[in-house]
Amino acid sequence: MKDNLLHHYCIDGVVFSADPANPGLYCVATPIGNLADITLRALKTLASVDLILCEDTRVTRRLLTHYGIRARLEVYNDHSPASLREKLIAHLGEGASIALVSDAGTPLISDPGYRLVTAVRKAGHNVFSIPGANAAVSALSTAGLPTDTFFFTGFLPVKKAARKTRLDELKHVPATLILYESPRRLLLTITDCHDVLGNRQAAVARELTKAFEETVTGTLLELYEDFAARDQIKGEIVILVAPPDEADEENVPDLDTVLKDALSRRTLKDAVAEVTKTTGLARKTVYRRALELRDENSQ
Ligand code: SAM
Repeated sequence: MKDNLLHHYCIDGVVFSADPANPGLYCVATPIGNLADITLRALKTLASVDLILCEDTRVTRRLLTHYGIRARLEVYNDHSPASLREKLIAHLGEGASIALVSDAGTPLISDPGYRLVTAVRKAGHNVFSIPGANAAVSALSTAGLPTDTFFFTGFLPVKKAARKTRLDELKHVPATLILYESPRRLLLTITDCHDVLGNRQAAVARELTKAFEETVTGTLLELYEDFAARDQIKGEIVILVAPPDEADEENVPDLDTVLKDALSRRTLKDAVAEVTKTTGLARKTVYRRALELRDENSQ
């Protein structure tokens, strides 16, 4: 455990001290761009714990240096071996306090930590939340799309077929969809969303909390036109897509109805091709269901 000589900090006139923290794992949110977006409790925790687990020591050291905090850092990520988690759990068993941070935002949200938190809970140790910045919620609160129900789905798979399957699964979710995306794939993802979800209202939130922060709103087609006309697309991006129109949803025949109709008229191969085209669903999904329906029929 750190030998805490009650170190005092003064930030913007607010004084806080590094008190010994209660034993446990602290999931600490850090800024998503603007270094001022960190809570006093987060700073106090980072200054007080015995060890900080981070994705990249250089990124976290920069944040700590900005606030004059000295701390022991160790790298933890999704590739960290089970033996490291065992070592950390043993450390917690000795009464240690450990913070988990990611490069930006809230740990575990499209960031490492899920296995660690699960293992620490299973071992019976405390897991504390030190809440703060998160790109998905920040984008949602400013995009002007429905906020009563939202569905966060992180990054879409990179491979085309898997992306399409994922979007098919999301097509009828009655919620604003929130996706993380890299600037390199923004146009591709807007196109895929348009092709599978239809030309819904949407928003692209870019560089939130930073100097070139912007949120562009419009239909998916309008967003495509806006970003396709730019010389280059840079920065960190959240895409939000409005829920499906209830009236449209009611008019969508379910897969079984259209498949049964097509199968009654055509060969399985042709029926699958027809339904894939008319519903916009992934061929794999339609094919799998067509085989099931055929097998059910032949029993
Ligand atoms: N844990 C983080 C959180 O709580 O938001 C997210 C980490 S994830 C690896 C990084 C992605 O979050 C980026 O690719 C981008 O999609 C989104 N993101 C992070 N910071 C952002 C910002 N300042 N503006 C817009 N999107 C951001």
